[in-house]
Amino acid sequence: MLELRGVSKTYGPAVALHATDLRIEPGRCTALIGPSGCGKSTLLRLMTGLLRPDAGQVLFDGQPMTPANVNALRRQMGYVIQEGGLFAHLTARGNVALMARYLRQSPARIEARVRELAELTRLERKLLDRYPVELSGGQRQRVSLMRALMLDPAVLLLDEPLGALDPMVRHDLQTDLKRIFRELDKTVVLVTHDMGEAGFLGDDIVLLKAGRIVQRGTLSDLVHAPADDFVVRFINAQRSPLEAV
Ligand code: ADP
Repeated sequence: MLELRGVSKTYGPAVALHATDLRIEPGRCTALIGPSGCGKSTLLRLMTGLLRPDAGQVLFDGQPMTPANVNALRRQMGYVIQEGGLFAHLTARGNVALMARYLRQSPARIEARVRELAELTRLERKLLDRYPVELSGGQRQRVSLMRALMLDPAVLLLDEPLGALDPMVRHDLQTDLKRIFRELDKTVVLVTHDMGEAGFLGDDIVLLKAGRIVQRGTLSDLVHAPADDFVVRFINAQRSPLEAV
């Protein structure tokens, strides 16, 4: 569905991503994980076409991304960032409907889709008329997810969408996301730094360190057949509250 071939990215003298090959399989959730600064967001932004690689190629459904087709391809991708990235001057409904209005879809069609998505993401309908500042962090992320899904994209790219939420809200949203991914059968790429979240939501896990992929596999592969000592240390660094009991 998405493929990186020899893709690299530097910022000035700093290498954010060394030459990387990666295939994202359709209909699955791939979790990108690793310590802060390892290049997860850079990798995701290269896939969205928001960032252009210094070298290599990004392919969407077999088609190389170019400046000429990137806008059209981007409409087939839904993108959610940590803080949601909602426009403060638009209501929840206004944010969700923005692109559909721009594409001149009919108001009836837009409203039907907004209601369908509110149901899917379990956002109370009365909250649709509120501005982002009047919503909780979890509600804002439900709205961001609705916005990303509005045009029924083939691919959903999520950059630490639950990173700023408290543990209980996060837990509820993880459960909802898992159900939504299964119901919609979308290709999903999720950035997280939480191995529990990666294991819960990801069919595949891609572990990065300092701009390189260290290991790709299921959580069980990483736990039972770690590629190196870093994988072991990264997994062990995720503390369980039960340890203290
Ligand atoms: P992660 O998402 O894993 O925390 P990033 O992809 O955001 O990591 O960053 C990878 C590296 O690139 C880091 O060292 C970061 O400081 C650097 N970096 C990211 N964005 C920029 C930028 N716009 N300008 C300069 N350096 C950047």
